[in-house]
Amino acid sequence: MTQKNKTIGIISLGCAKNQVDAERMVTLMRGAGYTVTPRLDALDAVVINTCGFIESAKAEAIETILEFCALKAEGKLEKIIVTGCLAERYKSELLAEMPEIDGMLGSGSFRRVAEALDAAFDAAGEAPPPELYDAPGSDPLADETPRVLSTPKGWAYLKIAEGCDNNCAYCVIPDIRGRFRSRSIESLVAEAESLAAQGVRELDVVAQDSTRYGLDLYGRRVLPELLEALSAIDGIRWIRLHYLYPDEITDELIQTVADNPKIVKYLDIPIQHISDAVLARMNRRGTGAELRALMTKLRERIPGVVIRTTLIAGLPGETDREFEELCDFLREFRLERVGVFPFSPEEGTPAEKMTDRVRLEIAEHRVTLIEQLQTGIMDEFNAARIDSVCEVLIEDYDKWGECFCGRSWAEAPDVDGKIFITAASDGKQPMLGDIVIARITDIIDGDLIGEVL
Ligand code: SF4
Repeated sequence: MTQKNKTIGIISLGCAKNQVDAERMVTLMRGAGYTVTPRLDALDAVVINTCGFIESAKAEAIETILEFCALKAEGKLEKIIVTGCLAERYKSELLAEMPEIDGMLGSGSFRRVAEALDAAFDAAGEAPPPELYDAPGSDPLADETPRVLSTPKGWAYLKIAEGCDNNCAYCVIPDIRGRFRSRSIESLVAEAESLAAQGVRELDVVAQDSTRYGLDLYGRRVLPELLEALSAIDGIRWIRLHYLYPDEITDELIQTVADNPKIVKYLDIPIQHISDAVLARMNRRGTGAELRALMTKLRERIPGVVIRTTLIAGLPGETDREFEELCDFLREFRLERVGVFPFSPEEGTPAEKMTDRVRLEIAEHRVTLIEQLQTGIMDEFNAARIDSVCEVLIEDYDKWGECFCGRSWAEAPDVDGKIFITAASDGKQPMLGDIVIARITDIIDGDLIGEVL
């Protein structure tokens, strides 16, 4: 029988969906009697929850695993458990190349983390590492496990579904995470209520494709109904929507966002590109004209809405003309928040087999050009906010700047900037997790400065 006075560390890489799984794993490990600590020194074992989405994410995951393999070789660590998307994609390769790994968990098996730790600690001699791989989605209770929040006070992710049915030509997520699976409105409301009871004021709604919510479970899209149910929860002040698939944004959803004061006027809509030819090669639904019409409609129907998108530069066959069309679109529609990545040829995807490759340095150069273009647009947006008043969720205290920092409706967690806040003239200090009223007074290095009113 395993001595449970073992101390476990956990690292979660990649996206918010992975982070929520890691929060559940902490509950499960503690429930099994392990001590779980955020400190990564003096551990008996580490659980590395990996991302395997694109090249850069894979490299980060492998680097992290190797770091702990080195600690293990120095006798500073007993066991290494690898979970998440990289473990799902490259099980045999990882075990072959890193024999220091003591256990592997597929993306559908994170609820068996304590079982993997037990097996690893109990393993005698040359016993092979436990490999726990359930088909993604085969564990109906996966998302019902309570979470130990890892986000700053005041906000948390709410993962409303897992998997994806869209099959974009460059993406491995459907293979790694399985078919699209919605959680029930009841279980999500129950989770959101428990989050509110823990002081969460902002819910960041995530899925691979949030707009598809309910289609599998209720036979129709019910994201507006879910949002109404979540906004009825006392304590929840902000609901922010991420990963909206453009051609599934209905008039009903737009009206719900426009009319409901708790739904933050910030929409994350990954479009990936604007050129019809490129969108077709990406196997994305919708045309450039439809995307332009959507952006125009959102600006009209939701005044002051901040739009975030994600783009890929350098998909095989992307011509200078097609790239220029994308830049023209950005200059014209002036989206406030844009993330852009160079195309990453992922094994097993249709895009990997495409010929007419764009050289990596050209793809990276196109990324730089878009980043430069967007810096100007963001500066313009920030400048227009000087002297404006907004609510700010206080996330942290900046010891260096001796001030608080937080986010308003216009900044999503982890991807957008911060607002640095000085206390009110009466010297009253805000608390972490508070939502305060602040006036934007200045901009320093792209970050906003404000004072509590
Ligand atoms: S919508 Fe496309 S890019 Fe996003 S997870 Fe699904 S298949 Fe991947």
